[in-house]
Amino acid sequence: MGYYGFTMNEFQPGPAGCSENENFADMPLENTYASLPETFYSRVAPTPVAAPRLIRLNRPLAEQLGLDPVALTSLAGLEILAGNRLPKAARPLAMGYAGHQFGNWVPQLGDGRAVLLGEIVDRDGIRRDIQLKGAGITPYSRSGDGRASIGPVVREYLASEAMAALGIATTRALAAVATGELVYRARPEPGGIITRVASSHVRVGTFQYIASRQGAEGVRTLADYVIRRHYPDLVEADQPYTALLQAVMERTADLVASWLLVGFIHGVMNTDNMSVVGETIDYGPFGFVDLYHPGTVYSSIDTQGRYAYNQQPAIAQWNMARLAETLLPLLDDDEEAAVAVAQTALTAFADRFEASYHAGLRRKLGLMEQRREDVDLAFELLQIMARGGADMTLTFRRLSNLGSSGPESADSAGDGPVRNLFEQPDAFDAWVHKWRQRLAFEQRDEAERQSAMRAVNPAFILRNHLAQQAVDAAIEHLDFQPMESLLAVLSRPFDDQPQHEQYSLPPKPEERVLRTFCGT
Ligand code: AMP
Ligand code: MG
Repeated sequence: MGYYGFTMNEFQPGPAGCSENENFADMPLENTYASLPETFYSRVAPTPVAAPRLIRLNRPLAEQLGLDPVALTSLAGLEILAGNRLPKAARPLAMGYAGHQFGNWVPQLGDGRAVLLGEIVDRDGIRRDIQLKGAGITPYSRSGDGRASIGPVVREYLASEAMAALGIATTRALAAVATGELVYRARPEPGGIITRVASSHVRVGTFQYIASRQGAEGVRTLADYVIRRHYPDLVEADQPYTALLQAVMERTADLVASWLLVGFIHGVMNTDNMSVVGETIDYGPFGFVDLYHPGTVYSSIDTQGRYAYNQQPAIAQWNMARLAETLLPLLDDDEEAAVAVAQTALTAFADRFEASYHAGLRRKLGLMEQRREDVDLAFELLQIMARGGADMTLTFRRLSNLGSSGPESADSAGDGPVRNLFEQPDAFDAWVHKWRQRLAFEQRDEAERQSAMRAVNPAFILRNHLAQQAVDAAIEHLDFQPMESLLAVLSRPFDDQPQHEQYSLPPKPEERVLRTFCGT
């Protein structure tokens, strides 16, 4: 008997729809990373697992990758997704990287429980990494077991697909598999593997790793690879490495702005968890803001609030400074000149973030034109949300539906759905009056303004308590139905789905999740 009332043989491949069609279960992998110097990674194959079972395949993503979903759900497909069988063209490896963890330099991290199988060029011509996370021990595992619990697998699957549906750059989840083995965390839990798809797994920490071990020539090799693969327009630039630094900063600034606009808190913005292509990566103790408060921290390991909601832009810039340091020798032969180039780029990061964030706030308020007072208007709303204990997502969503001219009296039906979210509705009444005055400057059709606002203010985010319920069901009962239901709703976050209203609501007091865990 297992720990949670299930036995090991319940993990046999089965109910999740495995067919016998094994013929086409392969992946047309390419291996550009594996052709870089061997000092960049370690060749290692996934360790097979006892009794894999498919929890979920992301069919639309499989199709986007040109893979056959039927073949992937066959026994042979399942074996690939579990690491029990290698695709013919795989040259599996674990990537080396270093990083600053909570500000402290750690010279050696690396994929301790993830194996890169190779790359697939998708239907849009974009090369994407196929990685099995939870695939067993690698030379970078240190004292870890190389495995993942099903809980974090479900969390990462949910988060990456929810973020993608929100239009936020992110790694994706192609599949989740239960391994039929237990992993030992605070308690024994069922093991899982997630197939992660990323435009890149190169991190700021990858540059740090190569810089600290191999110096400028190693960094040049890595930078050339990243430019060719991810920023091909820069190949011909006068100063390709300066252009690379600027481009990474632009994408990162836009990414962090997009996080803030939906209330996302990454939780562990260490340099090893920061992609060089501006995708959200490594979902650990992340969380979404419910009641808006700028200093919100969920992560149990972030005792100092280093990675709080409102610290994220400054931390991203700090991480970009670490990237810039590794590139210095390539920016200019003269050290002082190189530092000046890097400093200019870092200043530009702050400007880019601000422009991107402010433009997003304007869109959230339904404003098309730029006026100087707009940002103050937005900050004022955020401030009264913080003071009035209002739910961030619901406030913006319901604001979208308000009329431009307003109800007869403040407490009449019209504004009720928004003002009721505030402990002191008066503050909101005063604000909404100003907002309407501002709207009046724009000749915009009301219905068009409302639908434009609904297209940027989601009705549904991955609320922490809902993620937790899906994780608990998975760990305790191997029940993946809550995950399925959530994914269905979160795949259309900007659509009203009245039959699923419960997923749009903040947690009840007893449901509130105050802490999130790495829970590897
Ligand atoms: P993370 O907190 O997931 O960003 O991981 C930080 C570092 O710890 C990375 O080098 C991971 O590969 C490694 N790591 C995390 N969990 C495990 C595990 N269960 N076994 C081996 N290495 C791990
Ligand atoms: Mg990580």
